[in-house]
Amino acid sequence: MINSQPRVRFAPSPTGYLHVGGLRTALYNFLFARKNNGKSILRIEDTDRNRYVEGAVENLIAALKWAGLEYDEGPDIVGPFGPYMQSQRLDIYQKYAQELISKGKAYYCFCTPERLDALREEQQKLKLPQAKYDKHCLNLTQLQIQENLNKNIPKVIRLNVEPNQKIEFDDVIREHVEFDSNNVDDQVLIKSDGYPTYHLANVVDDHLMQITHVIRGEEWLSSTPKHVLLYDAFGWERPVFAHLPLLLNPDRSKLSKRQGDVAVEDYRDKGYLKEALINFVALLGWNAGDDKEFYYIDELIEKFSLERVNKAGAVFDLQKLNWLNAEHLRKKSDDEILILLKKEIENSEFKNHNISDEKLLQIIQVMKERVTFVKDFIHSCNYFYERPIEYEQKAIEKNWKEDTANHLLKLKEAFEKLVNPSKEDYENALSKVAEELNIGKGKLIHPLRLAVSGQSTGPGMFDLLYILGKDEVVQRILTTIEKLKVTKN
Ligand code: GLU
Repeated sequence: MINSQPRVRFAPSPTGYLHVGGLRTALYNFLFARKNNGKSILRIEDTDRNRYVEGAVENLIAALKWAGLEYDEGPDIVGPFGPYMQSQRLDIYQKYAQELISKGKAYYCFCTPERLDALREEQQKLKLPQAKYDKHCLNLTQLQIQENLNKNIPKVIRLNVEPNQKIEFDDVIREHVEFDSNNVDDQVLIKSDGYPTYHLANVVDDHLMQITHVIRGEEWLSSTPKHVLLYDAFGWERPVFAHLPLLLNPDRSKLSKRQGDVAVEDYRDKGYLKEALINFVALLGWNAGDDKEFYYIDELIEKFSLERVNKAGAVFDLQKLNWLNAEHLRKKSDDEILILLKKEIENSEFKNHNISDEKLLQIIQVMKERVTFVKDFIHSCNYFYERPIEYEQKAIEKNWKEDTANHLLKLKEAFEKLVNPSKEDYENALSKVAEELNIGKGKLIHPLRLAVSGQSTGPGMFDLLYILGKDEVVQRILTTIEKLKVTKN
């Protein structure tokens, strides 16, 4: 049923943050809609009042917007099928529950929690595979039901699942799926507080909002037989189902908070680029049929299809995300990176250092191939922003010998004589000093790097000198000689 204009939805329950699995669901819905000229809808499934979290919806919307996953209809965008918050649609669910009752597809249940507990215990003792309601209230007469309603006895409305049926449906990813109705409970549709459960609200809304494709995580697959029964009970056309594979930790357990971050907000705050996170998440369960891994969102839209989503669980590999982050960062222009870097500096200890754009651009050019995050332009090379405070101990041991101070003093003198030196000027000066001293250049380069940066690795030596500038280089050589004299003795 590929309609001329498919309609899909992302239907999160507001838990307080956007889970990366949720981001993947939102992304696949978005890609599918954009690719097929369809509409994507954000619907907030907030009918579980015990789970209410202040500010959760705003967080969710902010995370989606940050990731660039715009939707066409939603709580903050007027659309033809609103409201898009389930808590604002309660009367609609009541009406449809009543319709099911009148059709004999649902029924009132007045059982007390005590009875239900006892039933569950009994079933556990019998080692039944799964606790199920025993349809006790299905035997009530019309009169009894009316009396109970008049007396305001607490009640729920349950789905009347016919036993001994095969429940079948097709799924784009899981193919043909079958469930035995004997394993499906008489699901509560309306709770005693008058709120609908996920199952009823979800199906009613998907129908009323004219959703053509339900694309969601595999954890909802076991709910789908109940949904299918509801569609059939109402006499509504079923949407196309596509259940996305589970996300797994590297040890193949289900992706969990315990093994790392799961909130999109955490990744954002750690400095991941939205382009990288989107690229990474797109590949969690999908590929274009080749081994290409680097994508921008436009290309994903062009290439995406549900048919190419895998059944097998997708491993969340942080190394790969880091690699993609570095790749996306490198592909940005220096001017784009400059804007990001200046924002990062604003939040760092160097915010009052007044470093010129020109100097920042030089840092960007020499460090671009060496960083993973924008913040690495600061923290992996803080010697560009301040004089070294500490020196790598191992490098001192390896490269700072008896005669090193004298060698560096010679080098300092040679540098002092240079006028507006270019990189080549530094290089020539260093070669000359090495020749005069009759030593290999390495004997000068390693301690020099240590002296000006405190570290043993970094960008090209002469790039480093050039960016720091002659006066600063000379000053750092002197300070280091002084400092290391003290520590070495
Ligand atoms: N409210 C469900 C969730 O939190 C929606 C599942 C579905 O898409 O049907 O993910």
